[in-house]
Amino acid sequence: MKPNELTGRVALVTGASRGLGRAMSQALAQAGARLALVSRDERLLSETAAAIREVGSEAEVLAADVTDEAQVLALEKAVAARFGRVDILINNAGINLRKRMTDFTLEEWNRIQTTNVTSAFLMCRSFVPPMRGQGYGRIINMTSMMSHISLPGRTAYSTSKAALLGFTKALALELATDAITVNGISPGPCSTEINKALMENAELTQFFISRIPAGRWGQPEEIGQLAVYLCSDAAGFITGTDIIIDGGWTAQ
Ligand code: NAD
Repeated sequence: MKPNELTGRVALVTGASRGLGRAMSQALAQAGARLALVSRDERLLSETAAAIREVGSEAEVLAADVTDEAQVLALEKAVAARFGRVDILINNAGINLRKRMTDFTLEEWNRIQTTNVTSAFLMCRSFVPPMRGQGYGRIINMTSMMSHISLPGRTAYSTSKAALLGFTKALALELATDAITVNGISPGPCSTEINKALMENAELTQFFISRIPAGRWGQPEEIGQLAVYLCSDAAGFITGTDIIIDGGWTAQ
């Protein structure tokens, strides 16, 4: 990959306030991209923006709930006014709730599906049309190792992430002739807030580490570097697929 490979590209990352979204935003900025940072928490987003500006890149904070149709439509206008276009869209915002299927309320179930799947539909519906005809476009959906395998207590999450993988493949086919690639990144357990409860519990930590052949949690920076590669020109023929980055868990 060339240095500053993404210079001049505009990248929009949802869930950019922390965790994998923040790491991918920083990695894209380091590769030269200009960043539109989206999440609900303006204060945390500003911290991501400050870290990006410190390395000399451009970042704009755009607070929005990506499950809300009106807010996504407003975001579409705000991004067009600020950047003029979007070259890279990373649908990263996501939530998890771990419990038995029979203990879910309908509201909890729907909240997971809306956040993890419907948000990607709303974002793509807004940002794909202007991406067409540019001769370059990248969409990355944050799927999960749980798109492929599962564990007890993950019915809602696995359902949503498998659906997001299906969405990824179908959309890739619709956009293939527009030079827009659509792929998933499926991480295994990474050390972020979403896994805080697991990482703070010694027994659960032991369970997870024993299941990961690499013997450690994934690091957000590793996901960031993979995202940069998928956005590079060299990855232009990779579309409609999903890259599992899990320290070997799903190979077993
Ligand atoms: P995280 O909880 O640290 O961050 C999630 C981000 O999504 C936050 O910025 C949060 O504010 C944002 N978000 C949630 N709901 C939103 C909404 N309605 N509107 C706008 N923003 C919203 O989680 P993470 O570990 O950084 O995970 C990022 C993505 O990667 C998620 O989709 C997650 O499912 C996926 N993933 C994570 C792991 C892991 O081990 N960390 C593994 C596989 C997949």
